[in-house]
Amino acid sequence: MISFKSILITGGAGFIGSHVVRRMVNNYPSTNIINLDALTYASNIKLLDDCKNKSNYKFIKQNINDFEALKALFSKYDFDSVIHLAAESHVDNSIKNPFIFAQTNIQGTLNLLEAAKQHWGNNIKNKRFYHVSTDEVFGSLTKKGCFTEKSAYDPRSPYSASKAASDHLVRSYFNTYGLPIVLSNCSNNFGPGQHREKLIPLMIKNIAEEKPLPIYGKGNNIRDWLYVEDHAHAIDLIFHKGISGETYLLGGNNEYKNLDLVYLLIKEVDSMLKRPKGSSVNLIKFVSDRLGHDYRYAIDSSKILKELNWKASTSFEVGIQKTLNYYLKK
Ligand code: NAD
Repeated sequence: MISFKSILITGGAGFIGSHVVRRMVNNYPSTNIINLDALTYASNIKLLDDCKNKSNYKFIKQNINDFEALKALFSKYDFDSVIHLAAESHVDNSIKNPFIFAQTNIQGTLNLLEAAKQHWGNNIKNKRFYHVSTDEVFGSLTKKGCFTEKSAYDPRSPYSASKAASDHLVRSYFNTYGLPIVLSNCSNNFGPGQHREKLIPLMIKNIAEEKPLPIYGKGNNIRDWLYVEDHAHAIDLIFHKGISGETYLLGGNNEYKNLDLVYLLIKEVDSMLKRPKGSSVNLIKFVSDRLGHDYRYAIDSSKILKELNWKASTSFEVGIQKTLNYYLKK
């Protein structure tokens, strides 16, 4: 296990990043955790109110598209490691406006890689650059099979294409310059703190507010869901114990058809709000399918289980209950 002194976490005011920052701040009290985030519409810095007075935590508002600013921060804080989560993350937005996705996800990642490379030079012992990525880079599965570390890249949305490009850049810095990188590709996350544009919070809030529940196509698309704190745990393990140059895939082993998931949320929210059983079913509204909508994602997590002894520990039922409690209390 490598012991780091100063970790730069990008995108820490976002959904997954906030869980990663909290975990690192609490688990590594003698390590400085610097959270860099541009605070875009998707962020919520209040998620980290419980960390803001911790002596090993600092927040910096900065954009990863500003290369000179990144170089200056590396000099000032002498980061020995990076956990890179900052990204434009919503597929629908990427279909409407792909430019910002290329800018932040590709150019922004390149800026960070180059800033790290220039700062560390040949002194790469006990350094680490961890890139957090998505299983969407592998494209769409049919009913059978899973993505593995050997799956070919086949991104099908501007979002996944931008993440695929960033994955390739990260690996190129390992192969070309020997930068000590690790990379992970994860399935859909859920849990407290996710922006309302994403499926689970959107459906919970709309059911509670008796608003239409828009479902793409016939709702037959299948996603694998991982509870966000299990992802943060995996990130911690990969960051500290993963092998440089390696990629790890992880998922929750919780495959749900979108429509079935919405029915489940209707059942739970109606029951928590003491409404008659199924009374929100009539809110379901089928809408034109997402362009290029991937049919199914699923992950074979056996490498990370075997090598780092990680597997998701939160059952879907427990994770959904925590998520419902969070959104219905807000
Ligand atoms: P999010 O949209 O909730 O958070 C992204 C954060 O990045 C926000 O706080 C935003 O302000 C920040 N950011 C965006 N552009 C920036 C820029 N130019 N400079 C600095 N900060 C910027 O996203 P998330 O769901 O927490 O995802 C985090 C990472 O994990 C992303 O890289 C995403 O591709 C990856 N990922 C997400 C999932 C998922 O299901 N959410 C699954 C696998 C991988």
